[in-house]
Amino acid sequence: MELLGFTKLLKPYVKLQKYIKWIEEETKRIALIINDQDLLLPYGISSAFDLDRKFILVRIKEDAYLDFKGDIDKEEIEYMIAHEVTHGLLAYKEEYCQFRIRPSSTNYDLEFKNAVYVFTMFEDIVVTKILYENNFQQYPREYISQIEYEIECARVGKDDHKDDYKYMVFRYILVWGLLNYTKLDGVGRKKSYEYLDMFKKTYSKQYKQAIKVKDIIYKNDISTVEGFHNAIVKCLDLDLWKIPSIEIITTSQALQLLSQAE
Ligand SMILES: [Zn+2]
Repeated sequence: MELLGFTKLLKPYVKLQKYIKWIEEETKRIALIINDQDLLLPYGISSAFDLDRKFILVRIKEDAYLDFKGDIDKEEIEYMIAHEVTHGLLAYKEEYCQFRIRPSSTNYDLEFKNAVYVFTMFEDIVVTKILYENNFQQYPREYISQIEYEIECARVGKDDHKDDYKYMVFRYILVWGLLNYTKLDGVGRKKSYEYLDMFKKTYSKQYKQAIKVKDIIYKNDISTVEGFHNAIVKCLDLDLWKIPSIEIITTSQALQLLSQAE
């Protein structure tokens, strides 16, 4: 593992070191973890996994994990690094399918964004399951405050995202997936159920769409390469998730495209 550009996260805990070493052996790749202070992703996300020809490449914004005194929340940043590196395990070892949007698309950016939703919705459930099986925590610390906020938004009928059906379904499926693929207890379990109940009551149309995705996951085991691929294909058949210019490709095809772009 190589850490690049960090000022506070200098030596990770043994648990993370061992976990990454295992993934490096499985994928025959070195994990390169870069502190990217300019990382700017929607919805407060501050870490990312990107396909790379050589490394398991993870970018993370160290600043997002500092408290007001400038101390780092080591467990939290390490959890997110573990999360992103696990995407590498799925891409390079398991060869989970990837996508590209044909350059001829007249709506490239939107199609790309929607494809990221579909792939992340399924893949994050699998990542969470693998982390859980490897004795990591079940969710990032901010999960509880985020979900409490969303419950409150629904209660007062003011959710900025409620008309963004894809985002709403995406959120629902991730919470539902957490309950179904790990063994939540305590406040995490209570709040997650509260969120799902509230969602069902408050957003009936969005809920109808979420049921369709849940049904796909019931019928296809997304923790296998084939099941994941089939789930993606079935999801893209649904009206809500149609992406006209998407092509499902293999990891090696995606890496070829990367080298052509260089
Ligand atoms: Zn992820």
